[in-house]
Amino acid sequence: MVHFVGAGPGAPDLITLRGAELLKAADTVIYAGSLVNPALLALCKAGCSIYNSAEMTLEQVLAAVETAEAAGQTTVRLHTGDPCLYGAIREQMDALDARNIPYDSTPGVSSFCGAAAAAQAEYTLPGVSQSVVITRMAGRTPVPEREGIAAWAAHGASMVIFLSAGMLEPLQTELLAGAYTESTPAAVVYKATWPEEKVVRCTVGTLAEAGRKHQISKTALVLVGDFLQPDYQRSKLYDPTFTTEFREASQ
Ligand code: SAH
Repeated sequence: MVHFVGAGPGAPDLITLRGAELLKAADTVIYAGSLVNPALLALCKAGCSIYNSAEMTLEQVLAAVETAEAAGQTTVRLHTGDPCLYGAIREQMDALDARNIPYDSTPGVSSFCGAAAAAQAEYTLPGVSQSVVITRMAGRTPVPEREGIAAWAAHGASMVIFLSAGMLEPLQTELLAGAYTESTPAAVVYKATWPEEKVVRCTVGTLAEAGRKHQISKTALVLVGDFLQPDYQRSKLYDPTFTTEFREASQ
C-alpha cells in the first residue's frame, strides 16, 4: 500500500495528524527532498528505508515502491505542500494502478496557504476579489497557451504564482499585459513557514527589482492583487444587520 502524504509548506508541525501517523508507521518513505523539510524524517521508525526523490526518476521511485510491496511493506510518498498541486502524483497513481498496487492520498497545507499566513492576508476579500488563480510561468513544463499569465491577469483576481521566482522579469511584463497596473500590490513570499521565511512587499511594477534586491530566485511564491491593499468591504456573514441560518439580525 502506498500513501501519498502532503508534508505541508515547511514547518514540520504543519503536517496533518493523519500524515504524521502514516509517516511513523511507514516501512519505506520516499520524500521530495528539494522542498520537504528533512526534520519530518525524525518521525520515521527505526529501520525505515528512506529515499530522496529529488535524485530519482519516476522509474526509480516505482522500483523502490515495488521492492517495498514485494516485502509486504507500507510506503509513504511524501510531497511538499499538498500533493494535488504541481506534485506529479497522477503519473505515479496511473503507474500504481497498472501494477495493481493500492494507494490513497492525505492532503497537506499547500504553500499558497502558508504564504497567505506569512503575509497576514486573505485572498477572497468582499468587494475586491472572490477568486484565486493558482498558476505558473511556463518553464521546462509548458503551460497551455490559453492559460498564459496575461490571460489570467486580465481578470484582476487574486493570483498566486508558483514555480516562477526565477522569472520575475518576464512575469512582471506578462502581469502588466493583463488588468494589473504598475501600482497593483504584490508580494514575494520566500520559504513560507520555514525559519528563514521572508515576505517582500512590492508592486507589480517593482516585482523583478524586489526579487533582485532580496536575492530571491527560488522556493518562493508571487502573490498579486488588490487583496494586498487595505480597502475592502466588511463580510455579510458577521454583519449585525444580516440574518443567517445560525443567527438573527440584532439591529
Ligand atoms: N505541492 C506544493 C507545490 C510544489 S511546486 C504545494 O502545495 O505547495 C514547488 C513550488 O512551490 C516552489 O517552486 C515554490 O513556488 C512553491 N513553494 C513550495 N514551498 C514553498 C514555501 N514554503 N514558500 C514559498 N513557496 C513555496
